[in-house]
Amino acid sequence: MNKKRIIRVREKESGHKKSYVVYWMQQSQRVHYNHALEHAIQLANHHDLPLLVYFGLTANYPEANQRHYQFMLEGLREVKDILVKFHISFVLRLESPEEGIKPYLEDAEALIMDQGYLKLQRQWRQSVIEYVKIHHLDIHIDIVDTDLIVPVHIASDKAEYGAYTLRPKIKRLYLEFRDFNRISSIKNQTKLKLEGDDDLSDLALTIKKLNLNQSVSLSIFYHGGYVEASKMVFTFIQDKANHYLESNDPSNDYTSKLSMYLHFGQISALEILDRMFLELEYGNIDGKAFDAFIEQLLVRRELAFNFVYYNQGYDHFDEMTEPWAYFTMKEHENDFREYLYSLEQLENSKTHDHYFNAAMDEMAYTGYMHNYMRMYWAKKIIEWTPNYQSAYDYIIYLNNKYFIDGRDPNSYAGVAWCFGKHDRAWTERSVFGKLRYMNDKGLERKFNIQKYVDDVSEKKKLATAK
Ligand SMILES: Cc1cc2nc3c(=O)[nH]c(=O)nc-3n(C[C@H](O)[C@H](O)[C@H](O)COP(=O)(O)OP(=O)(O)OC[C@H]3O[C@@H](n4cnc5c(N)ncnc54)[C@H](O)[C@@H]3O)c2cc1C
Repeated sequence: MNKKRIIRVREKESGHKKSYVVYWMQQSQRVHYNHALEHAIQLANHHDLPLLVYFGLTANYPEANQRHYQFMLEGLREVKDILVKFHISFVLRLESPEEGIKPYLEDAEALIMDQGYLKLQRQWRQSVIEYVKIHHLDIHIDIVDTDLIVPVHIASDKAEYGAYTLRPKIKRLYLEFRDFNRISSIKNQTKLKLEGDDDLSDLALTIKKLNLNQSVSLSIFYHGGYVEASKMVFTFIQDKANHYLESNDPSNDYTSKLSMYLHFGQISALEILDRMFLELEYGNIDGKAFDAFIEQLLVRRELAFNFVYYNQGYDHFDEMTEPWAYFTMKEHENDFREYLYSLEQLENSKTHDHYFNAAMDEMAYTGYMHNYMRMYWAKKIIEWTPNYQSAYDYIIYLNNKYFIDGRDPNSYAGVAWCFGKHDRAWTERSVFGKLRYMNDKGLERKFNIQKYVDDVSEKKKLATAK
């Protein structure tokens, strides 16, 4: 593993040996290609100690509902089963993780955390570090960046202006971070005596215990976990990757649909990259298609992580975009809007625009939406809402409520992009000013958009069939 992935937070002061090493798993909910887990195993082996993996499952994660939890729990159940086979103790407790981890620290030789990128995730980690300091706990602490190909703090030390400023930095570095082979075995296989809240044998019961918001249905189309993610990668490589240059068209199905697995850390971006490289080397994937996919998985995705990591205001309308974009919105705030819809009308697909309605249905009934339609959908909300602040609030609310991959760095960067972030100024027009504009004629000209509408309609029928 490239040691630059590791941020050393604290060294242990005494030589007094403790009972185990603990890995607090949160962002990277997987065993394969998990550098934080690998680092924890290596430390445990070095001290001849067993390893404990802790997961705290809070029922109060902002904006999360049963759709998100179901997907996450499907993945965690697999993690638990694999760790047992690897002779690593796993405990999942239904509690706030930054509180729940504390009782495990006293007896731990080392605490390993996976890097979190959003504010809440970083606050959780920081509060545990503060707790250790205040209580003078004798423990080693490292944070390991394992969800990005190039760790966020290595790729750049500042907020990047756009893909064109980050791209050369990432491209220079990323081969250095193709640094994973396989998880090592743990030497000390002592089974720790632990009291977990939940053994994940009955996910419906776990969901019930969490007393979650049930306003959004479970997705019948997408299921969580590494096995499902691997199948998606396989299907992508087999049937779609060579068509990736045409994947902009929402009426075909040439994208990977891996975003939800990446969001929960159920598969690593590096593993996807390695598999793609292998196919490229065997001549199974066309070079141009490979480059186009890597542009999304590596450059655009890591730009989104750079955005949330270095901009505290990534989720505030007043801070998320560029001065030129605020200027143009100010100039156009009183422009006449031909259509105005309430949040309820938008959410229930009750607009005059069939394409918007289909996109809204896709997210509401399946939990996913094609990238091009995400752009179109958000741009229409900007066009049909009385002011930009409300448009931003509606878009974030719906995005994070319905998408399985919602509440991700990509959510905030994708929405901010619709308001000019990481984009450029375009020809000035009503309502949008210099923000990029999209319309239904463009969809009709470029794509077989009626096919997209029909496909979504079929999915809606399946999702609502009793
Ligand atoms: C308004 C709006 C909202 C969005 N909300 C989210 C969200 O909530 N969660 C989310 O993960 N993505 C979001 N995106 C980004 C993008 O639409 C999705 O990541 C992509 O559609 C996921 O589909 P896929 O996995 O099939 O992509 P593929 O085309 O197969 O791409 C592979 C991977 O590359 C990354 N990627 C692809 N497109 C983008 C992009 N435009 N920006 C950054 N990374 C990208 C993703 O990790 C994706 O899984 C949003 C974009 C917009 C414009």
